[in-house]
Amino acid sequence: MKTFDQTIVLATRNAGKVVELSHMLAALPVLLISAADIEKAPEVVEDADTLQGNAEKKARALFDLTGLPALADDTGLEVNALDGAPGVQSARYAGEQADDAANRTKLLLAMAGREDRSALFRTVLAYMDDEDVHYFDGVCEGVITAEERGDGGFGYDRIFQPTDADGSTFAEMNKEEKNRISHRGRALAQFVRFMEERIMR
Ligand code: IMP
Repeated sequence: MKTFDQTIVLATRNAGKVVELSHMLAALPVLLISAADIEKAPEVVEDADTLQGNAEKKARALFDLTGLPALADDTGLEVNALDGAPGVQSARYAGEQADDAANRTKLLLAMAGREDRSALFRTVLAYMDDEDVHYFDGVCEGVITAEERGDGGFGYDRIFQPTDADGSTFAEMNKEEKNRISHRGRALAQFVRFMEERIMR
C-alpha cells in the first residue's frame, strides 16, 4: 500500500488536468489534492508576462492560503514565424473569452502561406513549499499543420505535429504517447526526479 509522506495541492480546477497530473505523479508517495477540493481557493488572474510568472503566481496563491506545498503549471505555444506568439497569451489568443476552436482558427489563418511552420510548446511548473520555489521547464518541438487533424486532446492539439512522433498530431495520439513526449510530460518528469531526491534525503 502506498504511504503518503506529504500532500501537494495542484493549482487547477480542471478535472481532466488533475487526472493527467495524478497519473504522471503516481510513482510518488504523495497525496494530491486540487484547488477544487479547497474551500475559498482563489481565482488567480494570469496576467504575468511570462509562463514562469503565471505559474509562480498560481502556486503562491494556494501555498499562502493552505500552507501546503503547491504545484502550478502554465503552458504556451511559441511559433517561430510569429516571433514566439501566441506564447504566454495562448489561452487568450483569439480574445479574452476565446475557446480552443477560435484560437486554432486564428493561428491557422496567421500561418496561411508561411514556409517556416516550426513551433514549440513550453510548460513551466512552479513548486512552492515552505523552503523555496522551484521551476521545471519542459519543451516539445514540432510544426503547425496546414489544417486540423484528429479529434483527441484539447487546445492546439489538432494543429500541432510534434517532431518526436510518426507524423501524427497530438490529437491523433493516445494519452500515453502524448504524455511521453509532451512539454508537460517532460516538465513533470523533472519534477518527479526532484521529488524523489527530496523524499530520499
Ligand atoms: P494552460 O497554461 O494549461 O492554461 O494552457 C494555455 C493555453 O495553451 C490554452 O489555450 C491551452 O488550451 C493550450 N494548451 C496547454 N497545453 C496544451 C497541450 O498539451 N496541447 C494543446 N494545447 C495546450
